[in-house]
Amino acid sequence: MADGSDGPKEACGVFGVRDPQQPAAHLTYLGLFALQHRGQESAGIAVSDGTKIMIDKDMGLVSTIFDEHRLQALPGTMAIGHTRYATTGASAWCNAQPVARHAGDVFFALGHNGNLVNTTELAAGRHDADIGSDSDVVAALLADALAGDADGDLIAALTAVLPRLRGAYSFVVMDETRLIGARDPHGFRPLFLGRCETGGWVLASETPALDVVGARVVREIDPGEVVVIDDDGVHSIQFAPPQRRALCSFEFVYIARPDGRLAGIGVHAARRRMGRALARQSPVDADMVMPIPDSSIPGAQGYAAESGIEYGDGLIKNRYIGRTFIAPTQQLRDNAVRIKFNAIDDNVAGKKLVVVEDSIVRATTLRATMRLLRDAGAAEIHLRVLSAPYRWSCFYGLDTSDRSKLIASTMSVEQICEHLGADSLAYLELDQMLTAISPEPGGFCTACMTGDYPVPIPGMSTT
Ligand code: SF4
Repeated sequence: MADGSDGPKEACGVFGVRDPQQPAAHLTYLGLFALQHRGQESAGIAVSDGTKIMIDKDMGLVSTIFDEHRLQALPGTMAIGHTRYATTGASAWCNAQPVARHAGDVFFALGHNGNLVNTTELAAGRHDADIGSDSDVVAALLADALAGDADGDLIAALTAVLPRLRGAYSFVVMDETRLIGARDPHGFRPLFLGRCETGGWVLASETPALDVVGARVVREIDPGEVVVIDDDGVHSIQFAPPQRRALCSFEFVYIARPDGRLAGIGVHAARRRMGRALARQSPVDADMVMPIPDSSIPGAQGYAAESGIEYGDGLIKNRYIGRTFIAPTQQLRDNAVRIKFNAIDDNVAGKKLVVVEDSIVRATTLRATMRLLRDAGAAEIHLRVLSAPYRWSCFYGLDTSDRSKLIASTMSVEQICEHLGADSLAYLELDQMLTAISPEPGGFCTACMTGDYPVPIPGMSTT
C-alpha cells in the first residue's frame, strides 16, 4: 500500500512467552520486533519472575524503546508484549499496552489486538479515571469480576467477561505464574501457539514471531478459545461456541508478513495467486509489470508470471522510513512521497507500465506516486489492484472508521482512475480475490469491501 500516512494503520501485534529456560523479556523483544509492522506508535513488555509483574512501555518503535539496559531491568521467565497502533483511544503513553490491574491479591497484565464494537455499552456508567481505550474497559471488567463472582480466579473472570465482548480480539494475558491467550468467537485477528526447543510456550499474532525465537507452530488458537499455560502445560477452555468464521481477509492482502501462514495458507503464495488472477481478469498490453513496494511485490510477481510481461522495479523504497513522516510545511508534505519512494528513471522512461498495488484506501500518497512515475517518463500507467474496492469502514482493528475518507466510497472506478492520473485502473473482483486466498468458500471478513459486517456495528445502517 503506497498510501503511507493516509492509508490504514495496522491494528496491533501481541506476543507472549513462558519458558523457564530463557529470559522472557529478550524473547519478547525479538517477537515484537518481528511484529513491528502491525503497530508503530507504542510498544511494551510485562514480565514476571514468578512472584511479581513489572511493566515497561513507551511511545515509539520497539528498537528505539528497548535497549539491553532496559531489557536487563526486566528479569523473569514469563512475559507478554504489545506493539500498538491506536484504533480506539488516542495515541498517547497512557494508552500504550500491556495494561495492568490489581484486584485484591491478583495482579494481571493484558495486551489486545483488534477492536471491540460495544465499548460504549460495556463502559456505560463507569467513571474509572484510567479508562482510555477498549482494552482498558476489558481490564476494568476483569478486575470487577475478580472482586465479584470470580472470587479472585483470573480464568473464571475471563470466561465470565469474554462472552460479553463484541467485535475483534486476540488477547495475551498473564498473572504472576500463568500465560493466557484468548481469541474472539469469529477469529477476526490471528493468534498462534508455538513451542520452543527448550520446552517453553509462545503465543504470537503471526508465525514469523515464532520463527524469530526458534519456536515451531503448534496450532492456531481456535475462535472462542482460551488457552492457559502453566507448569503442567497447555489447558484449553472453549468459552463460547465458534460463530461465523471471519478471519480478516486484509491480513492476506496487506497486513500480515508475507513469510507467514494464516489458517494454514502461506501469505506470500496467496498474494502471488491474487496477482495471477488479476492478470487473467484484467490483462493489458504493457512493457513491464512493477510493484509498489513492499507488500505488492508478490502480487506483481504473480501478474508478471501469468501475463508473460517482464517483471521489473520502477520504484525504490527507503527502508529506513519507520514511523510516519510528519512534514512541518506544505512543500515538505508535497515532497514526502519522495522520502518514501524514488523512481528508477532508466526502468520507467518511455515504458507502458502495469503498476500493481495491494489496495487503495485514501489514495493521497498513491496519487503522488503516480506523478513520480510520470515525472520519470512513464509512457502509460495501468494500475492493477490486488483487492476489491475498500468502500466501508473497518471497526475490527484498522483505523478506517471515517468512511468519507475512503476514496472508493465517494468515487467510481473511472473517477478514481482520473483522480490518480492513471491510464487505466482495475480492481480484482472480490470472488477472485477470495478464491486466490483459499479455494474453500467462506470463512473471511470482507466488510470493508461489501458492507457485510459479521458483528453488527451499533447504530450503523449499511444501506
Ligand atoms: Fe479486515 Fe476489512 Fe474485515 Fe476490517 S472490515 S476486519 S480490514 S476484512
